[in-house]
Amino acid sequence: MNIKNIDLRSDTFTLPSKEMKEAMMNAKVGDDVWDEDPTVKELETKIANLFGHEAALFCPSGTMTNQIALKILTQPQDDIICDIRSHIYQYEGGGIAYNSLCSVRLLQGEKGILTTQMIEEAIMPDDIHFPRSRVVALENTVNKAGGSSYKLEEIKAISELCKKNNLKLHLDGARIFNALVYRNQSAKELGQYFDTISVCLSKGLGAPVGSVLLANKELIHQAKRVRKVLGGGMRQSGFLAAAGIYALNNNIEKLKEDNQNAGKIAESLKQNKLVEEVIFEGTNIVLFRIESSYSSEKFKIELAKKGILVSSFGKEWLRIVTHLDISKEMIERVCNEFLEIKEEGVSV
Ligand SMILES: *Cc1c(COP(=O)(O)O)cnc(C)c1O
Repeated sequence: MNIKNIDLRSDTFTLPSKEMKEAMMNAKVGDDVWDEDPTVKELETKIANLFGHEAALFCPSGTMTNQIALKILTQPQDDIICDIRSHIYQYEGGGIAYNSLCSVRLLQGEKGILTTQMIEEAIMPDDIHFPRSRVVALENTVNKAGGSSYKLEEIKAISELCKKNNLKLHLDGARIFNALVYRNQSAKELGQYFDTISVCLSKGLGAPVGSVLLANKELIHQAKRVRKVLGGGMRQSGFLAAAGIYALNNNIEKLKEDNQNAGKIAESLKQNKLVEEVIFEGTNIVLFRIESSYSSEKFKIELAKKGILVSSFGKEWLRIVTHLDISKEMIERVCNEFLEIKEEGVSV
């Protein structure tokens, strides 16, 4: 039987829907490097308004929006304070050192969530022996911690601490909408606390390409220079921005279902005796570990035979990410299949 794979490796695997493609094909475009693409402008204005920021910049990837943000907020010899699991540190090819000539101060957040106390202890005194503490970078949700998220009070307190200590506050919001719908927070409430925010359109929101950087006008002006030098200036990118506009108009609600679907997966995994540990933080990611005598790798292979794709996450862990293209029916099938994997590796 040739069944279509259920791809739970990442929420980057979403494909643009027919309606999204129509929106893309119908976009009014121009040369955005010359500031003449009306659809890119529309996207930037729309998302800036949503988060209460003055301006925005459409970029090819979340790595680029994060790296540009850190570049424009720092000078060489500065120190960036972040959790050790941060995407900006773990998964951006050493970009902080490469692009910004900065050091990082890595904290052990509780499930990737930083507290004011941790941050306060990491701020260096003004002494030439130390790098200058300049930026605090939060991630929300925290991918490597299984999609954990911040309470608004926590962010507010961190923001106040940063202001008091003359630190800038950046948010890697690759999955910020998963956090917002889970915590019932508004983008505007959250947006006010950050100097820069990176938002991905190409994850759960389902656009094929693109991330947006949010900040004030002056910072976005600088950001545009950095985007150019990184080779991220795009011409008729309104075709891509149109997908982002469509996603913001249509796909935010579905994230609630994605979060719930991940919850169902977590519950179902717990019923399999081979599963030793499950991490689910309420959003669209589930991390789990299989007992060593069976191994996570073998569990992954057995799932793949059933047409269910999950990804390895470090040596022992597996990761499942729910997204726009995963329906309730698929989740039901996945949950049933979990129970079929037993010690001998045979399906019953
Ligand atoms: C996916 C992701 C990014 C951006 O990744 P790109 O593939 O460069 O778009 C940034 N931060 C986190 C936490 C992510 O999960």
